[in-house]
Amino acid sequence: MAKYDYDLFVIGAGSGGVRAARLAAISGAKVLVAEEHRVGGTCVIRGCVPKKFMVYASEFAHHFETAKGYGWTVEGASFDWPAFIAEKDKEIARLSGIYVRNLQNAGAELVHGRARLVDAHTVEVEGRGSVTADKILIATGGRPWRPSELPGCELAITSEEAFHLPQLPKSIVIAGGGYIALEFAGIFAGLGVDTTLVHRGPNVLRGFDDDVRAHIAEEMERRGIKVLLGTQHTALEKTDTGILNRFTNVHHCESDVVMFALGRVPYTAGLGLENAGVKLADNGAVVVDAYSKTSVDNIWAVGDVTDRINLTPVAIREGQAFAETEFYGRPTTFDHEMVALAVFAQPPIGSVGLSEADARRQYGKVDVYLARFRPMKYAFMHGEEKCLVKLVVDAASQKIVGCHVVGPDAPEIIQMAAIAMKMGVTKAQWDSTCAVHPTLAEELVTLREKYVPQGLGQAA
Ligand code: FAD
Repeated sequence: MAKYDYDLFVIGAGSGGVRAARLAAISGAKVLVAEEHRVGGTCVIRGCVPKKFMVYASEFAHHFETAKGYGWTVEGASFDWPAFIAEKDKEIARLSGIYVRNLQNAGAELVHGRARLVDAHTVEVEGRGSVTADKILIATGGRPWRPSELPGCELAITSEEAFHLPQLPKSIVIAGGGYIALEFAGIFAGLGVDTTLVHRGPNVLRGFDDDVRAHIAEEMERRGIKVLLGTQHTALEKTDTGILNRFTNVHHCESDVVMFALGRVPYTAGLGLENAGVKLADNGAVVVDAYSKTSVDNIWAVGDVTDRINLTPVAIREGQAFAETEFYGRPTTFDHEMVALAVFAQPPIGSVGLSEADARRQYGKVDVYLARFRPMKYAFMHGEEKCLVKLVVDAASQKIVGCHVVGPDAPEIIQMAAIAMKMGVTKAQWDSTCAVHPTLAEELVTLREKYVPQGLGQAA
């Protein structure tokens, strides 16, 4: 008789949980996965995937503008929000179904309902009752943070609701300066919505390279987004015609919709982790070691709930490393260094490695290479839209430690740059790579002149 009902209980069928559950089940383990919402998790249901569809939908406005310069007539183009949302939802349902089938084909069992730990080996699942398991994996992700103290806070939506607005608003105020705020600002502005981005910090995208931050804020304004920095909401009030946004130190304004994109918090509330003695950080994240093991010997956690790098491919790799270690006898950790990332703003950003400021802190002396130029595709467009490419090189070893691109296809380009950087490429090796012409990416391998910001002289 087995001591427990299952070898592994996974809480959460998102990116990390599904990967771990499938691999464990394929190894022959008896696996149960609990999901309280829809299989696929944030990425598939209310994150990366629907967001990217919205980015695609909104980019057409800019494509139509570009097309005019090439001799096309595109008068009368219009956009049907409900039709787009219906198509998007159909595709999301199809993808969620694939996740369910993949779990089933691997031999894992799935239960719909909210799970809660009773003790280190017992989980209570809504509608199913108590289940025991030898090992437990917490993969419950994160959820949007709301400033609950703000008067009128309940009038605002978050990214979760933005995917299901019954109609396209005429105007939106988005609060936040992170990647989700920028991506939705680009989406709504592209779809013709009067868009204002409000951020309390001195610039958007804290933690990114400063040249990238300044460049994207400028480009967003060029595309018609009002970017209000150094300010934040003091209240939201319902009016007959919309929502009144009150701010610190700038004039109030009215909008149809207000969206908070003010960060996400690990989803550990009400999970019963205290019943098992699982240690949490101050922000509620599950504390784990390099093998994603928690403070309790038979409980692990992967993905956003651990608040390491909150991206889908990272959650997947952490889930995979856990399964390889525990079910295949291959101790495996995931290396969180040199993880490339994209911001699907308009224009988009690709970034891997350190910002110039972080590189200076870590290495002391760095060489910087930077170019700003007009993308060839926009040669026939009026306006001044520019791309940015930047390399940060450790002066002593000549290794490239940061690569940042803003412009068309930046997310595609950065994936390839990340391979070379993960392998420790030096600037000389990078430069020995022959360019692909005419592309934006070739600018990265033809950067020869060291960049010295105006006013800093050679001391920089
Ligand atoms: P999740 O995918 O969030 O899955 C957790 C699952 O657990 C959920 O399905 C939840 O319903 C379930 N759950 C929670 N508690 C319980 C419980 N008690 N019982 C049962 N089930 C429970 N990342 C990228 O890499 N690229 C992007 O472009 C990108 N865009 C994003 C855009 C948005 C708007 C958002 C919000 C996120 C985006 N992300 C992106 C981040 C990415 O979605 C997450 O990093 C990833 O989904 C984390 O996976 P996870 O397995 O940790 O958690």
